[in-house]
Amino acid sequence: MYSEKFIQDKYNEIKEKWEVHLKDKGVKLSSLKKNNGSYTLNALVLIYLYVNIKKTISKEEITIFLQNLGYQVNDMQQARHLSQQDGWYIISGQRGDSECKKYNVSAGEYMLLTLEEPYPQFSDRRRAETYSLNSWEDLKRHYGNRCVSCGSEEGKKNLLYPNSLTRLEKGHKDPRQPLTLDNIIPQCQFCNGASQNLFVFDNKGKVIKISDPRFVLKSDEDVQIAMLKLLMEEDLERAETILEELKAE
Ligand SMILES: [Zn+2]
Repeated sequence: MYSEKFIQDKYNEIKEKWEVHLKDKGVKLSSLKKNNGSYTLNALVLIYLYVNIKKTISKEEITIFLQNLGYQVNDMQQARHLSQQDGWYIISGQRGDSECKKYNVSAGEYMLLTLEEPYPQFSDRRRAETYSLNSWEDLKRHYGNRCVSCGSEEGKKNLLYPNSLTRLEKGHKDPRQPLTLDNIIPQCQFCNGASQNLFVFDNKGKVIKISDPRFVLKSDEDVQIAMLKLLMEEDLERAETILEELKAE
């Protein structure tokens, strides 16, 4: 059980590091207490993860920690919000962050990796937001009027198809989200056509996810089987639930 002093001390440590490394990157630090004197759940969860930095922590452990302090929570969402919305570098097994394999974090588990860097996707999004207020012309200028994928410059000979002039189109970063300016990367007519809404791109035009599961069917059979195995091993319980649901349909 954590004493009030311990919680205050840990919060101060976090705050110190936040001021040095994270504040100017837009990471949000919740206040420790509300006006009525009770702790904020965000701060408590952050403290718990910080005390256990680089250790795998399950949803249940956090829930029990909160209950011991007298806070009843049914759907513990703080750890998720702390990374995606507030920018803390907390990886989640459920979300499948790329570091999960390395640190052995499974579904229902979390890990605070560092207080010296924000959650990577948070920085990407923030960068995107800084030019989302402007126009498509501004966005193209931000990328030097070039295709993010092949580097061809607008109005000049296309690097891959020298018989054509490059025309920049609005490449859909995440095809499952609306085509707003923060979800656009400039791509030439050839690179944009090639992706067929099958992939999710980052701001630099690198593929980071598959957005259409049917893409798997284009893969060789051994890859398809390996993929199925991988998904089942990742989260056997979830795979079984999904299979049950499909059978019931
Ligand atoms: Zn291109």
